[in-house]
Amino acid sequence: MPSSGGVVATPVAAPTAGAILQLVRNGRAATRADVARATGLSRSTVSLRVDALLAGGYLVERGDEPSTGGRPPTRLAFDAGAGVVLAADLGATHGRLAVTDLEAQPLAEEPIELPIAEGPDVVLPYVQDRFKELLDEVGKTPTDVRGIGIGVPGPVEYAVGRAISPPIMPGWDGVQIPDRMGERFPGVPVLVDNDVNIMALGDYWTYFRSDVDDLLYVKVATGIGCGVIAGGKVHRGAQGTAGDLGHVRPSEAPDVVCHCGNQGCVEAVASGSALARELTELGFPATGSRDVVALVRAGQPEAVRLVRRAGRQLGEVLAAAVNLFNPLVIVIGGDLAHAHEQLLAGVREVVYQRSTALATRHLQIVRSRLDDRAGVVGAAVTVIEDILSPEAVDRDLAARRGAPS
Ligand SMILES: [Zn+2]
Repeated sequence: MPSSGGVVATPVAAPTAGAILQLVRNGRAATRADVARATGLSRSTVSLRVDALLAGGYLVERGDEPSTGGRPPTRLAFDAGAGVVLAADLGATHGRLAVTDLEAQPLAEEPIELPIAEGPDVVLPYVQDRFKELLDEVGKTPTDVRGIGIGVPGPVEYAVGRAISPPIMPGWDGVQIPDRMGERFPGVPVLVDNDVNIMALGDYWTYFRSDVDDLLYVKVATGIGCGVIAGGKVHRGAQGTAGDLGHVRPSEAPDVVCHCGNQGCVEAVASGSALARELTELGFPATGSRDVVALVRAGQPEAVRLVRRAGRQLGEVLAAAVNLFNPLVIVIGGDLAHAHEQLLAGVREVVYQRSTALATRHLQIVRSRLDDRAGVVGAAVTVIEDILSPEAVDRDLAARRGAPS
């Protein structure tokens, strides 16, 4: 019997229909025979569960399996076109919106120039309007929407989607973003997370998930933040503030007052806004990260010197994180990563010097490959991993069985 190569290392603990969908999505099973081998279930039980997934619109069957003789087995495939996800990455000064399929592939996507400080009464209606127009562009309606993922540049109570005292988001404190989105997209799950967490998930899911478990994603832009992927999942910590490296003080940092109230935080001395201010004082006017990068690209020696210094200061903070957490990959993203030669050189110099040899033996420090798109991809992935989790799929199928037909 020809097999599609779904080689199985470990048996599935609870081989429910939801777990079977996961096997197909992960490429571990592509036929009913693969599923039987992976789960240890009988052919008849596999058929019952696969039929439920087919009826639920999660899987489709395709008869195009190449054969070495005999009747080819029907191939099972995840139906990524069975719905769409709306994704928003709302940054401090600009962001990006997308409509994606259920594999986080964009169907329509656009950058937006809208400061988060405009407040929820301006930003959320704008995002809702643009989502409707993007759906129109791709010939979809709100009934096709399976979930909405939103990243915001501040601390979030993830379970309920509420921003908590976000320092650069005036007017957003305590706002229940899912309730507000639900006014225009009723009944659709809305997940809200800190923008750095979703960026970390975007890059991780797209490029690293098959062979990396532990990764740090550092965003260097208006502020400095870090998303932690531990054991393949976003690690939020007890209060959801895990990864808030921006308020660690590097040695020899000047006494610049940070918006958190302390002095010399790495965010206050090495972020895009900090460097822009310093360059302006030196006679090279800059209003933010993008201007700093433009000066670096133009070869302005003071800008190059300051970005290298920022990289070393960031590297000092990251060296401690490397010793504590032992990641395999550090991804550097955010606008200031566009000055990558200088910034990454500074980071690498200090991380490799200050971290233990064992912790850095296989450590890679790389620039974000998704770059400006990391946030929307991660916002979509946040939703997809939630609505397609084995538990969610099993709940949905049970509800369908219980519903009158
Ligand atoms: Zn601070």
